[in-house]
Amino acid sequence: MPRILVTGGAGYIGSHTVHLLLRRGYDVVVVDNLCRGHAHNVPPERLRRLSLQDTDALTGLLRDPPCAAVIHFAAYIAVGESMEKPELYFANNVGGSLSLVSAMLAAGVDKLVFSSTAAVYGMPERVPVTEEAPFAPVSPYGESKVMVEKMLGWLDQCRGLRSVSLRYFNACGADPEAGLGEEHDPETHLVPLLLRAVRTGEPVTIFGDDYDTPDGTCIRDYIHVSDLAEAHAIALESLLAGAPSAAYNAGTGQGHSVLEVVRAVEEVTGRTVPRRIGPRRPGDAPVLVADPSRLRAALGWRPGYTDLRDIVATAWEFECRRAACRPVE
Ligand code: UDP
Repeated sequence: MPRILVTGGAGYIGSHTVHLLLRRGYDVVVVDNLCRGHAHNVPPERLRRLSLQDTDALTGLLRDPPCAAVIHFAAYIAVGESMEKPELYFANNVGGSLSLVSAMLAAGVDKLVFSSTAAVYGMPERVPVTEEAPFAPVSPYGESKVMVEKMLGWLDQCRGLRSVSLRYFNACGADPEAGLGEEHDPETHLVPLLLRAVRTGEPVTIFGDDYDTPDGTCIRDYIHVSDLAEAHAIALESLLAGAPSAAYNAGTGQGHSVLEVVRAVEEVTGRTVPRRIGPRRPGDAPVLVADPSRLRAALGWRPGYTDLRDIVATAWEFECRRAACRPVE
């Protein structure tokens, strides 16, 4: 089986994808500097602790033994932080990607799966949003992903480096059997925050209930992380089989309001979510739901998880296991 280099493979989505690739028999090498990822997410013999900025070391890793393709997860992902320190996001997300593609060109590796985001669309005028919607990011984080997508377009045209960009909607859930789940620090994502609120009794703040949506709270497209991992595996296979560059929405096409997620958490845990209503969070689109038909039509991808409660149940199982060994301060 081909050797695949995975950057950011110790992070949330990366680790689930690494696990899937290993199960499928790929020879995987993970590059992660562990500044936000966790070593315990990756088999130690697969992990190389390395900065993406180290182009020469990356080139060496890609060459010997030769890698057939790269999946590139390593990036900062916190929208709020990107508003405070945009330079960090351009240095890490854009600079890191530039270093990586330079290493790929030097090593003659010409296939890349790239972690993009629905944040490239900003506040889309039409939902469900298709890939034809214009780039209109409203944060340095979203802009950093747009910049890399554009860079990849030119690298294909000028240097023949083919890539698939997957624009993630709201990844959530876990693979507790594999010991994998969401462990951001600080955590900003809705599902783990709701589960933690249930467990600790500390209320979670709902960011606005006066949006123009049926219950007044924001609507998002929640996709199970294992389905997202599967999308990466399929995208990788397509590139290995010679498919051209493309960008795909990676979402389910189903929208859920914040209050619907709260209800799903209450059903799964059998407990009330302690909560309060707070002000809107700047930069939040009222509704962000994918039209995933391109990914379905081109690559045959379909989400395995279609019920939000099943997704939440996997996250709850992970949260309980994790809490048993590492209490939240
Ligand atoms: N949200 C919330 N309270 C929180 C965190 C998130 O009400 O403490 C809402 C947020 O406004 C959005 C949804 O939950 O509508 C998902 O937010 P998250 O940060 O998980 O992902 P994003 O949509 O920003 O990628």
